[in-house]
Amino acid sequence: MADPAPPVMKFCSACGSGRIELRVPDGDNLPRFVCAGCGAIHYQNPKVVVGCLPEWEDQVLLCRRAIAPRHGLWTLPAGFLENGETLVAGAVRETIEEASARVAVGELYTVISLPHISQIYVMFRARLLDLEFGPGPESLEVRLFREDEIPWDEMAFRTIGRTLRNYFLDRRLGAFPTRVSVLERRAPRADLSGAA
Ligand SMILES: [Zn+2]
Repeated sequence: MADPAPPVMKFCSACGSGRIELRVPDGDNLPRFVCAGCGAIHYQNPKVVVGCLPEWEDQVLLCRRAIAPRHGLWTLPAGFLENGETLVAGAVRETIEEASARVAVGELYTVISLPHISQIYVMFRARLLDLEFGPGPESLEVRLFREDEIPWDEMAFRTIGRTLRNYFLDRRLGAFPTRVSVLERRAPRADLSGAA
């Protein structure tokens, strides 16, 4: 189940010692990085990516990425949740940062586990409040798309493609239940290595 090799840790962030051991601490059941110098146990847990699906009439707002990974491909506004931040505040912040867009965040929509990279995607539906949007520093272009305009072959991440496909299906069905799912490691393909 713990599929990927744990990342390397060279130094203890508590005391600076280079004597880091990977072992199961007393009373635990998984290997952790433990400092042999000061005894600190460095727990590592999944990261949360939070974002939203901004709607305007029958269109949705997408951003074309100006940064790696997946430079030039399309995504919904989303990014890593910060310490001390709520999910909704994170979705609002990412939408301002990437699309200079103001949204009213609505219901929780998709929750997607990516165990092979230890990430959880949390996407909300959201209502775009006005049309004063535009690319932030992390985006090349920001625009509204109708369903038949969505660049399906140019999606930056599988999580985003899945969220959008669910959305247009659910919109036809007239209800948007929260959808909890898993994306496993993709079968190796030279042109797609290393991405979610
Ligand atoms: Zn230490």
